[in-house]
Amino acid sequence: MKHNVLLIEDSNTSMRVLKRVIGKANLNAVCAQSLTEAKHIFANTPPESYLCAVIDYTLPDAQDGEAIDFAIESFIPAIVITGRMDEDIREHVLSKNVVDYIPKENAQVYEYLSRLLGRLEKNKQVGVLIVDDSRVSRNKIISLLRRHNFITYEAAGAVEGMELLKMHRDIKLIITDENMPDMTGVELVAELRRTYHKDELSIIGVSSDTSSSLSARFIKSGANDYLTKPYCHEEFFCRVLQNVEHVEHIDAIRRAANSDYLTGLPNRRHFFGKVEGILKRKPTTKSLALFDLDHFKSVNDTYGHDCGDYVLKEVSKTIVKHFSPYCVSRFGGEEFCVFLPDVGLTRAKELMEAFREAISERQFKFGEHVFSCSISIGLTDWFDKTIESMLKRADENLYKAKENGRNLVVIDLG
Ligand code: GH3
Ligand code: MG
Ligand code: MG
Repeated sequence: MKHNVLLIEDSNTSMRVLKRVIGKANLNAVCAQSLTEAKHIFANTPPESYLCAVIDYTLPDAQDGEAIDFAIESFIPAIVITGRMDEDIREHVLSKNVVDYIPKENAQVYEYLSRLLGRLEKNKQVGVLIVDDSRVSRNKIISLLRRHNFITYEAAGAVEGMELLKMHRDIKLIITDENMPDMTGVELVAELRRTYHKDELSIIGVSSDTSSSLSARFIKSGANDYLTKPYCHEEFFCRVLQNVEHVEHIDAIRRAANSDYLTGLPNRRHFFGKVEGILKRKPTTKSLALFDLDHFKSVNDTYGHDCGDYVLKEVSKTIVKHFSPYCVSRFGGEEFCVFLPDVGLTRAKELMEAFREAISERQFKFGEHVFSCSISIGLTDWFDKTIESMLKRADENLYKAKENGRNLVVIDLG
């Protein structure tokens, strides 16, 4: 379900642009032209349907930001937009618990709003850990982060922080103080970097020490960024967003590089990396199967290439359903591979037969076409030092399955 954004704006022109920005963020704009109208609308819709409110600072019946108070009292995160921007208004807006304020200076600010709206939704999955021995400092940072919907964790010292990090895999950013009783912030960063790379966990060092050498020491020890206290609201959020997005972008690139574009299954390279890791712990039994769709060329020739793609995607889903605890991969074309650590040949054969049957009994429907497919499987548990030895055997067995009539599972003889 699409979330609502309560948009309170009296200018028709701004309203049109903002509605478009909100729509582009895949959210639903609920519009009011005055505070009175907004109150009326809000009273008649479920409050939890609102992700946030976008509020014009000056409204005909609320000249000095009173609409912000209404949103905050109603527990709706408030983003303030304003045409007049002087230092007094800025201070006044920021003294309230707003998510952010946006001066209507140029077209870029609408881009910023769009990014901010997207973040409010995404941040619900992002954990931020604050490591600081001062409760006051922690509370201040937590209050800022919660306005942006981040999941927050807090630790009064470095050791407690490291424990929390191990327990919560959603932590993408750590904000750490320098002066703590059990370890300095710089030492904590250096310790964390032994395990967590800069691209998977961002760290921002914070201190009131204005000597420039501390910022350099934080960065040299592996921090991504540094903030000097006191910092302003705007700088804090810009740095937090930038560092969270860095980790997310690298994660997206890594995912794309590791998976096959059509089916989303791990690609060959990623598969080998995972298998090498498992082989290091020397499992005593292991099986490997190679799959190849039967007469797949004729699916393409008869129903078209798009239909072929559809079959590949459906077969991949079935592979995931049957083999999700194991290592699966699309090797290329209509060939797939499954590696089953700690699974002997007898059990693996049962699993393969069940999968082969599921494919052959299935009716594929694409447009007006209804048809069936089958798959041939070469299976082995024979292992001689390397994974290549298994692949070679499985491939030989697959060849025999094709020769013996297809829609078959062939295992090593005797
Ligand atoms: P066999 O039973 O002997 O395996 O016959 P086959 O037709 O499946 O084998 P062949 O190797 O002759 O043909 C494989 C076909 O797979 C040819 C190729 O166009 C098609 N193919 C490979 N990758 C893709 C893809 O990503 N999408 C689609 N639609 N077809 C693909
Ligand atoms: Mg084939
Ligand atoms: Mg083939």
